[in-house]
Amino acid sequence: EKPAETHAFEADVARLLHMMVHSVYSDKDIFLRELISNAADACEKLRYEAIENPALLAQDADSRITLSLDEAGQKIVIEDNGIGMSREEMIEALGTIARSGTRAFLERIQANKAGEGAQLIGQFGVGFYSCFMVADRVDVVSRRAGSSEAWQWSSDGKGSYSIAAADPASAPSRGTRITLHLMEDAKSYASRWTIERLVKEQSGHVPVPIRVREKPEAEPAQITDGSALWTKSKAEVTNEEYQGFYQSLSGEYDEPALTVHFRAEGRHEYTALAFIPGSQPFDMFDPDRKGRMKLYVKRVFITDDAELLPRYLRFVRGLIDTADLPLNVSREMIQESPILSAIRKGVTSRILTAIEKLAETDTEAFLKLWSNFGSVLKEGIYEDFEKRDQLLALSRFRTTTSGEAYRSLADYVKDAKEGQEAIYYLAGGSLEQLAASPQLEGFRARGIEVLLLADQIDSFWVMNAPQFEGKSFKSVSQGAADLAQFAKVGAEVAASGTSSPALQDLLTFAKERLADQVSDVRSSERLTESAVCLIAAEGSYDRQLEKILQGAGR
Ligand code: ADP
Ligand code: MG
Repeated sequence: EKPAETHAFEADVARLLHMMVHSVYSDKDIFLRELISNAADACEKLRYEAIENPALLAQDADSRITLSLDEAGQKIVIEDNGIGMSREEMIEALGTIARSGTRAFLERIQANKAGEGAQLIGQFGVGFYSCFMVADRVDVVSRRAGSSEAWQWSSDGKGSYSIAAADPASAPSRGTRITLHLMEDAKSYASRWTIERLVKEQSGHVPVPIRVREKPEAEPAQITDGSALWTKSKAEVTNEEYQGFYQSLSGEYDEPALTVHFRAEGRHEYTALAFIPGSQPFDMFDPDRKGRMKLYVKRVFITDDAELLPRYLRFVRGLIDTADLPLNVSREMIQESPILSAIRKGVTSRILTAIEKLAETDTEAFLKLWSNFGSVLKEGIYEDFEKRDQLLALSRFRTTTSGEAYRSLADYVKDAKEGQEAIYYLAGGSLEQLAASPQLEGFRARGIEVLLLADQIDSFWVMNAPQFEGKSFKSVSQGAADLAQFAKVGAEVAASGTSSPALQDLLTFAKERLADQVSDVRSSERLTESAVCLIAAEGSYDRQLEKILQGAGR
């Protein structure tokens, strides 16, 4: 028997542990949810590996999670009969946090926004470490499915852990047993009442049944049945159940803004359950952020990093369960599967339709959704040709006439001036900067509405969206704005001075002096207050896009 070895946590982890215990204090409850979700993941991984290798299930095919309480001993034990961990896997999984998100997590916690802690833990998957919020010593005994060895990992969460061979006779025959030695102020977690309440509240929809043993030797009682919510029909599921499921799936604590649940029959058979979160995940613009839809085949979890939805729906959480794929579907097959691309299309359409419906039935909820995710949805205008018109119609804008409200393109077109062929916009900069631009003066004077496009993404789609309801998009900073044909509102129309000889002289003079800097100098209808403004030549890049491209090294 080898003596126990002592290993140091990676530096970041030690810091992380300290901060978790000291700043994320308010939501200690979540440790249980994190450990249960790991146990359930381990059971799902086992079922998946057992497709290739059924011997792994041995005599024990039913997944389960058992919580054993010991009030007198101030302990709680979480045991699963899932895939388990080898010695190397323990070191890798419990001794390092190699996630790219760790640094961002630390920075966020240090910025110390109250109430954010628990949400962050879920988002960054530092779940296991949350047990050190309630325990001053944690023992993990695990046996990898099919292995004759078992290993014990132990730590006080203060900077190091030890790992040693465990007695195979007393170790689980398969899976992982985690013993938490509870801190004095956390000993209430060994009470049945507390644990039952937490399990129902946080983990009621975990797809593996959960049992609780009130005392170390007592018979376990089943608390949740591990049934898959999505297999029920919509009519059988309550709002609370959907919300609970969303929360356990996403690790978020908010209410979903939209729930889309349907079963498709016909050419392809699948069930989809998708949620649009009620708030914006802060890593939404992280270029590495993956989609968040899980793929199941006949209720067996397959993967959560297949791109099951287009990128512009990357904020959607949920799952797709289909019987049309083989259980042993490989990663390569998933990426190329025509079945999945048909399913992707189907689910995308249903989600967009549901958003449309929300826009019609509950403006306030829709606008909240739009303010959270509109800037991502707009990526679809140039990425998804088929959905372009639908996405344009969903889009909402601030305009020169909207004030604090939002306008749709349909609103814009309906109120356009007689004879107005274009949808005018001004892109780039903040809303305030845009609204103050001299480029708008001539449009304001004539009561012509101009879209104020303040999102980075706007400059891209607007060049790729040739038309909406027969009108093309035209930047006010681009080319000569055809304003002369529209009468100014209210003001007396001043005699147009564009042909006076004095003005001609001025233009010639300016053209000569600025010959190297500008391609033309013209008189214009666009200004009413300011003397001059810079515009891009007709057919060239919009000025804002020009700036972005310069920034990108083009
Ligand atoms: P995440 O669950 O997001 O991967 P965690 O910190 O919760 O992050 O867990 C880290 C890793 O530890 C898991 O990915 C898994 O490999 C391993 N692990 C934790 N608990 C168990 C368990 N009960 N059975 C098997 N592996 C586990
Ligand atoms: Mg986890």
